[in-house]
Amino acid sequence: MSDTKTIDIIVPCYNEEDNVEKFFYAVREVEKLIEGYSFNYIFIDDGSSDGTLDVIKKIADRMVADVTSVKYISFSRNFGKEAAMVAGLKTSAKGSNDYAVIIDADLQHPPELIKDMIARMEADESVDCVAARRVSRKGEPKIRSAFARAFYKIMNRYSDIEIVDGAVDFRLMSHRMVKAIASMPETQRFSKGIFAWVGFKTEWIEFENVKRLSGESKWTVWGLTRYAIDGFIDFADSPLKFLGAFGGVVAAGSGIYFVIEIVKTLVMGKDTPGYASTICLILFFGGIIIAILGLIGEYIGRMYLETKCRPVYVEKESNIDEE
Ligand code: UDP
Ligand code: MG
Repeated sequence: MSDTKTIDIIVPCYNEEDNVEKFFYAVREVEKLIEGYSFNYIFIDDGSSDGTLDVIKKIADRMVADVTSVKYISFSRNFGKEAAMVAGLKTSAKGSNDYAVIIDADLQHPPELIKDMIARMEADESVDCVAARRVSRKGEPKIRSAFARAFYKIMNRYSDIEIVDGAVDFRLMSHRMVKAIASMPETQRFSKGIFAWVGFKTEWIEFENVKRLSGESKWTVWGLTRYAIDGFIDFADSPLKFLGAFGGVVAAGSGIYFVIEIVKTLVMGKDTPGYASTICLILFFGGIIIAILGLIGEYIGRMYLETKCRPVYVEKESNIDEE
């Protein structure tokens, strides 16, 4: 019973050649501080165009003599962090570890927190997940923080799931939770939503924002906007319900208006003015219809992609033996 427990450390890496090694040794230091647990590493090279994969392989080679296992999967191109996380989680789900941690390679997720996460996990039998939450967004562009806040507000108000503001993808999960996540077949993934959707009791640990070790964040303004829209559409069908109701109200309104016009014409005879207001109404509803079609198109587009059942990522090479 008092055997060593094993934890898979899942690390998505995209162009992190300067960070991976420092990151790895920083986590190993933390491992030394935690008794009764041993870490295994799963690096996912998300189609990096720099030497990230070489650095990972070097680490893996060096660790062969060690009991620590360092696995890696390298993608054929950049598939995005979501895909990288899935690859790591799937690998972990197949193994026989006790827990898995997802953590960024740029040391923006302080590895020391893993210790607290484990303590919190062990303290309560019913807890399956301990996740990190940023309490400050220091060092981040103001505009990004503002948009992020607005996104969480809207998301929590209108979608089926609750997403905690400041929640990052840094979390410790039980094996059964990892298995649940890995078994979700959707190809367009919004992990923040999936983590919440699978349920399980989650505890939160707060931490201060840390600057990335080296390099730049991979997020562009457009990338973040898409991410927010994707996340919302993945987990909310309220926009569609709202549109249905809205369409009904508009149709009823125009019906009433039509009747009023007929009555007016019958009682007071015909009058021609009203040209400007007619054009205004046409433009107004034309615009609304286009917007609605666009929104419906978003959902249909996703259904289209989902029905193609494409894999989330394509592996180029890996040191994991598939049986
Ligand atoms: N990442 C990835 N694929 C991508 C973009 C990012 O695997 O397409 C990894 C990246 O290497 C890092 C983590 O995801 O380990 C977080 O990325 P980043 O630091 O750019 O995001 P931020 O911290 O700004 O949210
Ligand atoms: Mg980062």
